[in-house]
Amino acid sequence: TEFTSPPLDELLLENIQLARFTKPTPVQKYSIPIVAAGRDLMACAQTGSGKTGGFLFPVLSESFKTGPTATHDQGSYYQKKAFPTAVVMAPTRELATQIFDEAKKFCYRSWVQPCVAYGGAPIGNQMREMDRGCDLLVATPGRLSDLIDRGKISLSNVKYLVLDEADRMLDMGFEPQIRAIVEGADMTPVGERQTLMFSATFPADIQHLARDFLADYIFLSV
Ligand code: AMP
Repeated sequence: TEFTSPPLDELLLENIQLARFTKPTPVQKYSIPIVAAGRDLMACAQTGSGKTGGFLFPVLSESFKTGPTATHDQGSYYQKKAFPTAVVMAPTRELATQIFDEAKKFCYRSWVQPCVAYGGAPIGNQMREMDRGCDLLVATPGRLSDLIDRGKISLSNVKYLVLDEADRMLDMGFEPQIRAIVEGADMTPVGERQTLMFSATFPADIQHLARDFLADYIFLSV
């Protein structure tokens, strides 16, 4: 394939081939080396640009190579707690499901278990799914804060935080939930995690989020 620089994990390359992606889209071409170099990223990219691969490929490649990392506790006797290493926030059930479906394809045969959570559906079923493994969590902000409040999810193991379609999440009024989650005491601090923001537009409120959530970030516009 043409997904060769920087070298991606072998298993991920096999899964990319199974998906019949033969060459990176422009956003993938530029975002993969930036994320692989450990940098935070603010990317302006439209739906359909391949931005999902733009964050999934470098995050999964690094995760596959690193392997599982130990969690801090196992929850309590009545509830298992999940400590995802990667969290992707998305505005809607539809987008979260799309990202989850892509993640399932690319995590095939790896140690990474993706899961998804969104509002408007029973939380109990989603929590039971998490008990089967939740290394990469794709979630809408409201449902994610609910899961945190219930003690089901801890963000203390997060190495990768992705905000997808950040402008749409703000348009939908999610800023308070997003800020509470990202600036909460449980979240890995800026500088100890890698944060990637994707947005179609870059107005003042997105610039403020980028300033507050990202460390010394690279700006990419495709
Ligand atoms: P996205 O912008 O991430 O929602 O991707 C838009 C569509 O393009 C999705 O159906 C992807 O599966 C597809 N796609 C993304 N990257 C590639 C690629 N490198 N080669 C072929 N198809 C791709």
